[in-house]
Amino acid sequence: MEGVTIEEAIQISCKIPLKKKTEIVSLDDSINRILAYDIVSKVNDPRFDNSSMDGWAVKSEDCKNYGNKLKIIGTNKTGNYKSNTINSGEACRIMTGASMPNGADAIVIIEDTTIEENMVIINGPARTEYVRKCGENISKGEISLKAGTLLNSAEISLCATTGYSELEVIRKPKIAIISNGDELVKPGHALLNGQIYESNSFGLAALVKKIGCEPIRLGIVQDTIEGLRQALNQASRECDAILTSGGVSMGKWDLVRKIMEEEGEIKFWKIKMRPGGPPLFGKWKNIPLFGLPGNPVSSHVVFTMIVFPWVAYSLGFNEEKGPRLADKVNVILENPLKGAPDKVCLRRIKISNKNGTLMATTNTHQGSGNIHSMVIHNGLSLLPPNKDAILGEKIEALWLR
Ligand code: AMP
Ligand code: MG
Repeated sequence: MEGVTIEEAIQISCKIPLKKKTEIVSLDDSINRILAYDIVSKVNDPRFDNSSMDGWAVKSEDCKNYGNKLKIIGTNKTGNYKSNTINSGEACRIMTGASMPNGADAIVIIEDTTIEENMVIINGPARTEYVRKCGENISKGEISLKAGTLLNSAEISLCATTGYSELEVIRKPKIAIISNGDELVKPGHALLNGQIYESNSFGLAALVKKIGCEPIRLGIVQDTIEGLRQALNQASRECDAILTSGGVSMGKWDLVRKIMEEEGEIKFWKIKMRPGGPPLFGKWKNIPLFGLPGNPVSSHVVFTMIVFPWVAYSLGFNEEKGPRLADKVNVILENPLKGAPDKVCLRRIKISNKNGTLMATTNTHQGSGNIHSMVIHNGLSLLPPNKDAILGEKIEALWLR
């Protein structure tokens, strides 16, 4: 198909998903990994009724009047579980996290008491909310984390709390990245006339890493069919998916498009978006391939808009808790924005929170070759086709992370 919408591009590519594989990792190695399956708690949290304060476990009805004296019947410490009981007129000394004695329904904090021989005098309130009830956070058998969750420090701590020492996570798919163009030189080398530094493979590799995959940069391939064929064959042998950059437009030397037409299989070519119009998607030797445009802003934007949703669908990222590259927000424009004929227009905007309202400005020219514009801005407009927006207008946008 030629000239698809963003939604159609995602739909078509998701028919050839990346294969989801899993592996087991220890909790220590699980930071920034993505859960492959739901986590079901092996325990109640808390495991038993316990105190959230250092103080005295009491019957609240015994503490209605300040000055009451209660008989001290013992001490409940953490790690030393007792199933003891208090009766009316009694109190048990208790540490934070220690089990509540039977019969006690409240805690008086240490600061609100004084001790007289074997009696404690109650000088402050007895609070039932200082009792942490068994299972009130999570109960045994409950799902504590959903498949597709990106594991961060709190999630990892919760996995430990719920009894897990290792986790089944998504194995990082290998994504080949091939840059195409005679003019490209790896940074760190001298440039001759007409040459430029190759940047896309570095930006794309960073994006690939950010969403839980492993980039395999296969370097720069010159504008020759033979060179491309070799690189694509190597990528299809060694990797789970292929990203190319450059060579997908209309020009005589846009050989990625040509070789995919003649020897691969193209599912769509050209997307109704600006920047990022010319990408293609298809298969090379049964491996899914995205042919991204060469212009650095375009390759970045197409990755965000098309490749990311495809990876997220393939690997089952949780919409709320999974990896993501951007958040959809509404912004108020501080400059007018020009849209594009028949295309969604993704202008670079700078979003800032001004007194609780998200405002957006544009600060540079919007050429798709200008990667600096992605650095000084932090968002993309989502202007519908054929739509210009005026100063003060509220529009949808992506706030890039
Ligand atoms: P192409 O899509 O091959 O027609 O390239 C479009 C523009 O992007 C040209 O100005 C290229 O020089 C530039 N370009 C292509 N590939 C890269 C790359 N990997 N890094 C930086 N610029 C690139
Ligand atoms: Mg080129």
